[in-house]
This record gives sequence, C-alpha cells and structure tokens, in this order.
Amino acid sequence: MLLQNKQVAIVGGGPGGLTLARLLQQAGAAVTVYERDLNRHERVQGGTLDLHDESALAALRAAGLLEEFKARYRPGADKLRLTDQHATVVFDEHAEAPTGTFGDAAFRPEIDRGPLRDMLLDCLQPGTVVWNSQLASMQPVGAGWQLTFQNGATAPADLVIGADGANSKIRPLLTPIRPFYSGVTVVEGTVFDSARNAPRIHELLAGGKIFALADSKTLVVSAKGDGSLNFYTGCKTAETWAHDSGIDFAEAAQVRAWFRQAFAGWDDIWQELFASETTRCVPRPQYCMPLDQTWPAQPNLTLLGDAAHLMPPYAGEGVNMAMLDALELSSCLTSAQFPDVQAAIAHYEAQMRQRSSAVAAETMEQTEALHSPGALEYLVGLFGGHEMPE
Ligand SMILES: Cc1cc2nc3c(=O)[nH]c(=O)nc-3n(C[C@H](O)[C@H](O)[C@H](O)COP(=O)(O)OP(=O)(O)OC[C@H]3O[C@@H](n4cnc5c(N)ncnc54)[C@H](O)[C@@H]3O)c2cc1C
Repeated sequence: MLLQNKQVAIVGGGPGGLTLARLLQQAGAAVTVYERDLNRHERVQGGTLDLHDESALAALRAAGLLEEFKARYRPGADKLRLTDQHATVVFDEHAEAPTGTFGDAAFRPEIDRGPLRDMLLDCLQPGTVVWNSQLASMQPVGAGWQLTFQNGATAPADLVIGADGANSKIRPLLTPIRPFYSGVTVVEGTVFDSARNAPRIHELLAGGKIFALADSKTLVVSAKGDGSLNFYTGCKTAETWAHDSGIDFAEAAQVRAWFRQAFAGWDDIWQELFASETTRCVPRPQYCMPLDQTWPAQPNLTLLGDAAHLMPPYAGEGVNMAMLDALELSSCLTSAQFPDVQAAIAHYEAQMRQRSSAVAAETMEQTEALHSPGALEYLVGLFGGHEMPE
C-alpha cells in the first residue's frame, strides 16, 4: 500500500476529516486527527444535514457505518415547509405520505451535526483524535512535515491532509487562490428549548424544516433532536456589512433591532427567533472558491471539504462533498493503481475539483435565485413542480 510505514496527519475533525480517518484506518493506515476543539464534548453548532445517497451515504456505506447511521438519523426531519414572509405555507411536505428509503437516489435522511460527529468519533481507534490541537504553522522537514500547534506542541507527518474548513491554515501552502464573496451574508443562530422560547415557530416546524422567502431575503429554520432549533437569515449585503453595521452580535437586543428593521413587513412570528436572551447569533459572510481553481499536486499535502472548495449552503452540498472527498481520496491513497502518493493525490484532486466546480456553479445559481425577486415561486417550482396559488 502507498501509505505503508507513513504517518498521516489529518488537520480538522469535521465530517470530512473524520470520515477520511475511518476509511484510511480500515485500510490499515496510521492516522492521527488534530482538532482545534478542546474536547469531544464541545457543543457542535449548526443545523441538521441531509445526506445524499451518491455522496455522504456512499462514504458511510464504504466506512461500514450505514447501520450506525440508521440508528442515529432523524426520520421526518427532512420534511419541509415553504412559506412567504407572513408564514403562509405554500408548499408542505408534512401533508405528503412518506416516500423513499435507503438506497433510493432521492432519499435524503437528516442527521444533527452532533450525532454525526459522535458516530464518526466512536468508530475510530482509541487515541486517533488529538484534541486542543489548533494548527498554527507547518514546516517542510525532509520528505514530510513538522506541524506546530497553538499550544506549543509539535508533531511529525509524512502526509498532511487539510480538512480544517473554511479558513484553512493549510490551503495557502498549496495555492494563493482565495475565495470570492458570494454577495450574501448569513446571520446564524440557535434557539434553545424552542418549544418554550419560540413556540409558534416550533409548532410550524413540526420537527422538520422551514424555508421562508420574500423581498430577496431568506430564512432557513431547522428543528434539532435536542429540543433546540437552528436558523439562518440570508440577505444580499456588502462583504463587510457585519463589521460596518456596528452591530454587536453578542447583544441580543441589537440583533433583535436589526432583524426588525431588515425584515420589516415580515410577520411577528419570526421575531420569536430573537426573543430569548439566550439566543446566540453569528454573522457569516458567504464565500465560494473560484470555479476554475487549480494547483500542482504535491507528494505530501492535499485538501478536502470546505478547505478545498468552500461554497454557500444554498444547495445543501457542503457536507456531502466533504464526505465524498474523503471516500475518493481514501480510494486513491489505498489503491494499487498509482505508482506513488503524488500520482494518487493528482488523480483525487483532478476529479475533486471537477466535481466540486460543477456543484459550486449550481450553488451560486441557487444562491442568486433565492435572493432575488420571485424566489418563492422559483423554489415552489423546484420542490413542488407546480405554480403557487394566487
Ligand atoms: C449556515 C450554514 C448552513 C449549512 N447547511 C448545510 C447543509 O444543510 N448541508 C450541507 O451539506 N452543508 C451545509 N453547510 C456546509 C457544511 O457545514 C460544510 O460544508 C461542512 O461542515 C464541511 O465539512 P469539513 O469537514 O470540510 O469542514 P468543517 O465542518 O468546517 O470542519 C473543520 C474542522 O476543522 C477544525 N479546525 C479548523 N481550523 C483548525 C486548525 N487550524 N487546526 C485544527 N483544527 C481546525 C474545526 O474545529 C472543525 O472541526 C452549511 C454551512 C453553513 C455556514
């Protein structure tokens, strides 16, 4: 095997990095994951994720984790309600009989980020993940690397895989190409105990998802298994809006005032999202990697997931691409088809870039369409295949 007697360092224990660790360990490789979080109990924020049959679920099948996944996913969490700004439901999957099952291309089961991470952590060999390891820098040493972490620790590696997400520290070692701003900034938040803190939205969610669209703005809300809900607003803004607005996003009252003004004319129900003092919001300008990016393949370094091909969330592909990257990279690194690691990486990167560019193009189209006049009609057409009622 190409990785015989090689120490593999995966930087970043998100879904992409952990899936790769599992797949490489199954093939007998020596793998360590260096993760910035202090420990596995740090709360994993963010909405639920729908996993697609041809990508994330294919990776889980190869990793022997499909049965584990079936025990942890949330049936019904994929049920969607599309509404306008008045919370009038114009398309409702709750009204439809359940369709699809595992193995169907169109079946997209949902899982919360926390249980997905737990499942991936639990299947790794003990000691695989080194917590509290925020990569600070990397220096070439011989044919490999010396990694240095914020806490002062160091570690050697023969092959480094950057799975460290949107603001990857490793990416600049491979390419100076930077992401471009998509034009949309998200304000993401979590409402704990949504039954109590946002009761009307909790009822409208019914354990599933809401997409509300109007005025070239979006609001996406997902119910989570721990009784909380996750939401994110999407507005076309200048790239530096979050900073220039002067809003202190740690102050609930300031965010509340911003939402009331930015979403003026929207029904009062949505203000429940900002009513609780415990709701925490974070502004996230959405970036995308250039669709034609490329770089020369290296013998000891590569990227996967958001580190390689960050894109906005509006096609729901980020996690799916990250886990498919893990599957394709592990297949290349453990195949007898390539003469050396560099050739295996070159093959992986070429197909990863081609695939992720196509998905990013679709994502950017979707991002624009959802933040334009007529977005609701457009989405109803996509989901329901029929015209909106007058
Ligand atoms: C608001 C929002 C909604 C989204 N919704 C969806 C959706 O519905 N479906 C979907 O498929 N995708 C969605 N995404 C995208 C998805 O979250 C990402 O594409 C996905 O998490 C990428 O996985 P990853 O493993 O590449 O990176 P990440 O999940 O970002 O994981 C990176 C890991 O690296 C660690 N790390 C970072 N820097 C360092 C460092 N220097 N040293 C060590 N460790 C480090 C981090 O702590 C983290 O654990 C959404 C994103 C956002 C912002």
